[in-house]
Amino acid sequence: MQKSEVVLGKAADVNVCEDATCTVCELGVLTHFRAVKGQNYLRCSHCEATIMAQASWLDPDEEQAVYSLHDNDPNDLGYRAFLEKLTLPMLDRIKPGALGLDFGCGPGPALAMMLREAGMEVALYDPFFYPSQSTLSHPYDFITCTEVVEHLHQPAKVFNQLDALLKPGGWLGIMTCFQTCDERFDNWHYRRDPTHVVFYREATLGLIAKRLGWIMAVPCKNVAIFHKPL
Ligand SMILES: [Zn+2]
Repeated sequence: MQKSEVVLGKAADVNVCEDATCTVCELGVLTHFRAVKGQNYLRCSHCEATIMAQASWLDPDEEQAVYSLHDNDPNDLGYRAFLEKLTLPMLDRIKPGALGLDFGCGPGPALAMMLREAGMEVALYDPFFYPSQSTLSHPYDFITCTEVVEHLHQPAKVFNQLDALLKPGGWLGIMTCFQTCDERFDNWHYRRDPTHVVFYREATLGLIAKRLGWIMAVPCKNVAIFHKPL
């Protein structure tokens, strides 16, 4: 595992531009999709991911300033209900005592608190707020990744790393707004967050699962649960 590749925000050797290979599936080619208010977006010919061109990315300081505004209060009932879209299907699949990792937990680890209340052990990793590399040095029974994958500058590399962090038989739960109708893209609330640089269709996530040998389930809108076979 190459720990330096955990780059939720801090890109190093990535070059996302037209005619480049897709950074999500590493198979398709990126071509111009559209320009919205000065930001350029590319589309993969294979997995249909939509990716913000690198020239439109925020720099890391600007990015962290946006993340610091996120209000992840674990006592907010509305926020807990939102997270239950992921925690409930995960809890259907894992047993109390399981060791998990909340990857990209942000400043307020509400999700980890909810899983701990259900008897799970949960470690925290976030490149800005919980950057300890020691949490990435051993595998886990399950990993949660809520509102994270849309921020990835090098998605395929991070998905590879999540695969390495997952024990055989383990579960990965991802929450992100699935991309659907292209006609609504320009005004889509998810696109308007300047830290969101990659958008996945359900089919895009299915291709990621296929590449890594995972089995995908979609228990509800915008949630995908991946199983790494034994
Ligand atoms: Zn692709």
